Amino acid sequence: MLDYVGLEADLGEEERLIRDAAREFVDERVRPDIGDHFQAGTFPTDLIEEMGEMGFYAPNLDGYGLPNVSETAYGILMQELEACDSGLRSMASVQGALVMYPIHAYGSDEQKERWLPALGQGEAVGCFGLTEPDHGSDPAGMETTARKEGDAYVLDGSKTWITNAPIADVAVVWARDESGAGSVDGEDGAGADEAPVRGFLVETDRDGVTTNEIGDKLSLRASITGEISLQGARVPEENVLPGVSGMKGPLSCLTQARYGIAWGAVGAARDCFEQAREYALDRDQFGGPIARFQLQQEKLAEMATQITTAQLLAYRLAELKERGDLTPQHVSMAKRNNVRTARDQSRVAREMLGGNGITTDYSPMRHMANMETVYTYEGTHDIHTLVLGEDLTGIAAYE
Ligand code: FAD
Repeated sequence: MLDYVGLEADLGEEERLIRDAAREFVDERVRPDIGDHFQAGTFPTDLIEEMGEMGFYAPNLDGYGLPNVSETAYGILMQELEACDSGLRSMASVQGALVMYPIHAYGSDEQKERWLPALGQGEAVGCFGLTEPDHGSDPAGMETTARKEGDAYVLDGSKTWITNAPIADVAVVWARDESGAGSVDGEDGAGADEAPVRGFLVETDRDGVTTNEIGDKLSLRASITGEISLQGARVPEENVLPGVSGMKGPLSCLTQARYGIAWGAVGAARDCFEQAREYALDRDQFGGPIARFQLQQEKLAEMATQITTAQLLAYRLAELKERGDLTPQHVSMAKRNNVRTARDQSRVAREMLGGNGITTDYSPMRHMANMETVYTYEGTHDIHTLVLGEDLTGIAAYE
């Protein structure tokens, strides 16, 4: 496996164990069928509980049976899952960083007791409903509302592009609480008289909640994506996440998930590199392996350099996160860079595989298709550019 500057030599025992367990799991349980799942547009749902037993969901959190592993171990786990397929890493990211994290950080004791063990074990599946049909890059414009009626809230609105919505037991839905006081600091993009954003734990079997699968994807096919329609959906008051109000809620979850993506993208790129190198050494043209041509060597050299640079950034993020110095802007830089690397290098790897490279027998074109989603979700490449631009100049250029 590509580890050109020997980063893995410095891993601790826990990190090595997690790396090896994840590699073995994907090689034995997922890799053999992942091409078929990609073609069929299905996720291997029979593995959801097994992934829970393996400790793949939010292992960097503590309590409730969660192991509280290091941020490097968590990152390496994401890297190994995405080396197989971005759909697999998305399953772990959504369940862990986007559903368990907000419950862990902002939930009541009852909410934590009820959901964290079940989600951690994969006995329950969660999804994260932020994006709406008319509000993607600008989620603060959300139109989904929550209206207080007695000791319940009534939710109305629609969410789209929601990973796992059709198979989820619970959705973390972000909505404007019309009974709440206006935004105090303007942090949520709302005007002083606009309702603050709150998080609601919505069981998907409640009346007024429907989830439809989005079936025509050409990317992230081995992942289930859907819409959530909320029409007068009543949830009890105790389903509100009590610990957060404003866009800080969803944005803090996204920072956790993007951290995992920065690592995961390295895995996808590494897998493409390994396939391309192996193929170049095996494939003979003009009387010998194509790896002997300078043109092919230049591609491998550039790939290895780009991937190593991305690895270094991911490892540094882990150190910053571990000591509490990681900023959302650091994460933006790494998500932006590492996903672009994976997107670019998966195409080069595909090219090196010639005609065989366009089949599901090899991973690069599957990774390349997946990267179109990863480049777009969790903040598009453009939006992360603007985040960095604002951080570097002090001038916001979103509007
Ligand atoms: P838009 O915001 O309409 O953007 C269109 C284009 O305009 C992009 O290129 C964008 O970069 C550009 N653009 C927008 N604003 C600016 C600007 N100010 N300056 C310059 N360019 C700009 N969401 C969830 O809430 N939960 C999920 O689980 C989830 N899973 C997903 C799974 C998949 C497979 C996909 C494809 C998406 C998922 N998403 C999810 C949604 C995802 O986060 C959004 O697609 C993303 O935020 C972009 O929003 P949009 O698609 O509406 O594009």
